[in-house]
Amino acid sequence: MYKDLTNKVAVVTGGSKGIGKAICERFGKEKMCVVVNYHSDEEGAQEAVAEIEKNGGKAVAVEADVSTEEGMDRLLKAAIETFGSLDIWVNNAGMETQKPTHELELEDWEKVLKVNLTGVFLGTKTALSYFKTHQIKGNIINMSSVHEQIPWPTFAHYAASKGGVKLFTETVAMEYAPENIRINSIGPGAIKTPINAEKFEDPKEKEILESMIPMERVGKPEEVAAAAAWLASNESSYVTGITLFVDGGMKLYPSFQGGKG
Ligand code: NAD
Repeated sequence: MYKDLTNKVAVVTGGSKGIGKAICERFGKEKMCVVVNYHSDEEGAQEAVAEIEKNGGKAVAVEADVSTEEGMDRLLKAAIETFGSLDIWVNNAGMETQKPTHELELEDWEKVLKVNLTGVFLGTKTALSYFKTHQIKGNIINMSSVHEQIPWPTFAHYAASKGGVKLFTETVAMEYAPENIRINSIGPGAIKTPINAEKFEDPKEKEILESMIPMERVGKPEEVAAAAAWLASNESSYVTGITLFVDGGMKLYPSFQGGKG
């Protein structure tokens, strides 16, 4: 636990399930005040709120589409009106779909880019505007992926969005470093959440996936949430512009495992 996080106010987008929900719950354990954003799953968001409050934090669930300015404004307003300020903004919401690139509809491309990349831009801009106006040394965390670095055939739009998140994070981290506003990404590997539930249900797919992870297991949302808590805390006070990979070694060319090659 990080003592400096007590009573800090955070917005977490896509907080109703998966990694976002785990981050909300971890922030609850840190006794933080959390705006739990959801898009359609209000029930999941209310579960996160209950869990945060059970652990001594405070929380409110707020509906918003991260790809709209209006939605982002609503989240900021909720933080200020409910908890009086904003210290941390986590751009976690994301989506993926799969298609060979020659069959990928413009609509699919735009949908993924709008949530995964435009959503990160809008959330970051909203938080930065508030931090600048109120001279807050705020903290922004963007949910990227190992696919900001590893190409992923049939997920070109997803990989492009996460590659965009990487350079966006590095650029804004540099831009606002003189004001002590820290901006980092987290790059999860394969984490078991609703986004990939189908893959894990098929034993063959699961085996293939595990063979690509040197630690030979998929990750848990709580393991990503632990990285978010560290990045949000003062324990990472000299860290900005990085991607903290939480991937069991997935990026380490696992096909060379055992001295092959
Ligand atoms: P998930 O599907 O369980 O959760 C995604 C969340 O984003 C949901 O709460 C969903 O409602 C929300 N969301 C989607 N579109 C939205 C919109 N327009 N407005 C507001 N919220 C919206 O997936 P997850 O695995 O928890 O993914 C969370 C993040 O982690 C995503 O950015 C994803 O790309 C990233 N990630 C996940 C994995 C993994 O293996 N699970 C790996 C790498 C990166």
